Formats: sequence, C-alpha cells, structure tokens
Amino acid sequence: MIFETHAHYDDEKFDEDRAELLSSMQENGIGRIINVSANLESLENTRKLMEAYPFIYGAFGLHPDEVGDLNEDVMARMLELCRMEKAVAVGEIGLDYYWDKENHEKQEYWFRRQIALAREEKLPMIIHSREAAADTLRVMKEEKSEEIGGVIHCFSYSVEMAEEYLKMGFYLGIGGVVTFKNAKKIKEVVQMAPMERILLETDSPYLAPVPYRGKRNSSLYLPYVVQEIAELKGISEEEVIETTEKNAVRLFRAEE
Ligand SMILES: [Zn+2]
Repeated sequence: MIFETHAHYDDEKFDEDRAELLSSMQENGIGRIINVSANLESLENTRKLMEAYPFIYGAFGLHPDEVGDLNEDVMARMLELCRMEKAVAVGEIGLDYYWDKENHEKQEYWFRRQIALAREEKLPMIIHSREAAADTLRVMKEEKSEEIGGVIHCFSYSVEMAEEYLKMGFYLGIGGVVTFKNAKKIKEVVQMAPMERILLETDSPYLAPVPYRGKRNSSLYLPYVVQEIAELKGISEEEVIETTEKNAVRLFRAEE
C-alpha cells in the first residue's frame, strides 16, 4: 500500500470532513500516513491524530516560519512527544527564505537546535527548505546531518543539489509538483535519483497534483504522483508503490 510520508491533516481545511476522509484511506490503497507538525498548535493536534488512528504516525518539530514561537518549554514538550511510541521523525524543520517570516539568524539557530533534538532522540529529520539551498546544505553539513538522516521534503532544487543530499544518505520527498507540466527540474531529479531514495508525499492540504492543481490536496491523490514517477522511471506503478513503501519503513522504522 502507498506510504504517505508528509501530510497535515490537523489543518483547518480538513475540519469539515476529517474523520470521513481519514476513514476512507485504507480502502483506497493508502496504508500508513505521517502527520507532520509545523506550528505550535499542530504539535498537540498531530499527537491526537497519531493516538486516534492506528495507521497515522507523527513527526514533531516547528517549521522555519514558526520558530518565533520556540523556546525552552516548547523544546522540552517536543522532546516528550518525540519519545512517544509512534513518533517517527523530527519535522518539519529547516530554512524558508521565500516567506522570510523570521530573520535568518533566528531560523538557523532553531534549525540547529532541532537537528540536535533529532540526533539525541535518534530520529530521522523531515527537512523543509525553500529558496535557501546554500544555507540549508551548509548548516546540515556543519551539523553532520549525514549521521542522522532523513528526507528533503518537497524537493525543489537542482539535480546537483539532489546529488549532494543523496551522498549524505538523505531521501527525496516527491509529491504533486512532479505532475506539473513546467516542473522540468523535478522530473530530471526523479529520473536521476535511485528508486531506493524516493519517498511519496503530498504536503496536504497543499500542492495537489494535476488534474487537481489548486484544489485541496489529500493522500487520495497520490496515485497521480505514482503514475508520473512510473512513467519517468519506466517501471510499473506497483513497483513505485512497493519500493517507496519499503523506503519509508526503512527510514522511519514505522512497522505495522
Ligand atoms: Zn509540510
């Protein structure tokens, strides 16, 4: 079954039909799902989803746009959450110079602190990096992130940058963007990357694939991403699903 490695089902866009939607996942071929926290509220809401649904796992961390809310108390709570049984990653963490909500120094400080949390707790990281390619790679190298591992979520950089992360042992998160006609760079990255390093993700409710581009995304649209990857790699859709599922279980140690 499809392993969805990045969704935000705590988002208010799912308030109307969350339970109904989530209970339809398994019958539609979506197996395990990682709900990824991003802001302060979503730490507890991710925990609640993880506790309510056997197939939902949790990632705990604050998005670079949200690090203004980080302090030692929140770090201490994140540590507790990371120690829960179905906590499988620290994330999403990183640098975002597109929205640029917090200054770069502050973003970098809390990125490093959260990398240290992942190292201590022996959890992989879910990395968010937008228009911050050089600084993200620099910080990750300085922090010896290759010893920790993880995924570069919604990979959006060049083939050369992808090679750097693959050398460090990281996985690449591929979602709806790969189906966009103008996403030439990401299609090239998928063709270059070994199948053993690709993970399926949506970033729901964002980044819906063609033909739903612009609409609310959900894991139910992952088959469009699977189809595109299968075409780019010249392999069957079954192979894409099986290999990415094995990859996710290996990285996140999310056994059923
Ligand atoms: Zn996300």
